[in-house]
Amino acid sequence: MLARFRFAMPTKVFFGQGCVKNQRSEWVLGSKALIVTGRSSAKLSGALDDVLDSIGVDYEVFSEVENNPSLATVAQGGRAAREAGCDFVVAIGGGSPLDAAKVIAVLARNEKDPLDLYSQGWENRALPVVAIPTTAGTGSEVTQYAVLTIERDRTKRGLGGFDMFPAVALLDPTYTESLSADVTIDTAVDALSHLVEGYLSLKADAINSSLAVQGMRMWGRCIPALRNRGFDRKVRAELMVASTLGGMTIAQTSTTVLHAMGYPLTYFHGIPHGQANGILFAAYLRYVHQTAPQKVGEVLVNLGLTSLNEFQQLMEDLFKDKRRALKVDEEVLPAWAQRAAATKNAANSIGNPSPRAVEEIFRKSLLR
Ligand code: NAP
Ligand code: FE
Repeated sequence: MLARFRFAMPTKVFFGQGCVKNQRSEWVLGSKALIVTGRSSAKLSGALDDVLDSIGVDYEVFSEVENNPSLATVAQGGRAAREAGCDFVVAIGGGSPLDAAKVIAVLARNEKDPLDLYSQGWENRALPVVAIPTTAGTGSEVTQYAVLTIERDRTKRGLGGFDMFPAVALLDPTYTESLSADVTIDTAVDALSHLVEGYLSLKADAINSSLAVQGMRMWGRCIPALRNRGFDRKVRAELMVASTLGGMTIAQTSTTVLHAMGYPLTYFHGIPHGQANGILFAAYLRYVHQTAPQKVGEVLVNLGLTSLNEFQQLMEDLFKDKRRALKVDEEVLPAWAQRAAATKNAANSIGNPSPRAVEEIFRKSLLR
């Protein structure tokens, strides 16, 4: 018998070249927009021009979002939205600007210290957000999560709320054409980790797994391009849809211990988020394989791979130079493992990973 499940995904999704201009009536959701971007990608990708050409209402631009956004940045953005009287938010960029915009939309209606959102939640519904991704990785355009850097705790942490789901997501894969091969690969592996972790999550069910399976198949077709570091339009389109499918999956399942383990590599060593997951990925899959060999086998089949060794080789091919350059002090690993094993993501993982098991995954990945 099937276990109980539920499914809720309130974001309207439009896919296709030109969708920002073509779908204007769907995404101009108020009379004044706060447009939230990173420093340069919104312009470089062409997305900002498309938004400005078609918005037709008043707007302010907040272009201060850094990679791995801080609490201070979202506080500043929230203030900007309140002071300018914005009634909707347009987010353009990779996961960093998208995530920041989602919290800014909460702070626009709730004048609070952003750190308190984690412990106290918020009362007033966030402003509606229109999300326009320029990377194909985080799936943030269809999730209710935002990941912020918490300096006090020296880590990154996810914040979630149903009203943080963007109202509209506009997916135009041509915006990813200005990405470097490195960022394309890093972000693609983030998408892969959402698809695979979602599929291997304790909250996997019939509906969300079907999203993950379709996403893994599309991702698998992109493997030759990722290996060759050459991306044509078809591949860019498939990576973008696979990434959105990954976001839709983790919106239901959340992520697992792999994401929790990647955060210290990003926080302490500046490793981009997807790459951090990629470096730990094969050892994580081998760990899950001990308890759920069939499910891991299904992941490999969906990706078009035949063995865990082949998967490990793929991650090595994508990241070998980066991994070689990474020097992690062995002595920090017990503390990192303790912390990752204590997260909700770990509790959502097959095998109920203990601190010891998590430390072993770190060791196998980082000390080889
Ligand atoms: P990112 O941090 O948003 O961007 C990485 C770099 O790529 C930035 O320098 C950015 O420039 C540049 N860039 C973005 N799009 C570009 C384009 N089209 N052309 C040229 N350069 C471009 O990277 P990301 O991997 O997309 O997002 C990572 C963040 O998302 C992390 O904080 C991660 O924790 C979070 N995340 C969130 C979720 C979720 O569910 N909400 C899931 C996974 C990860 P600019 O600085 O100019 O923008
Ligand atoms: Fe992620």
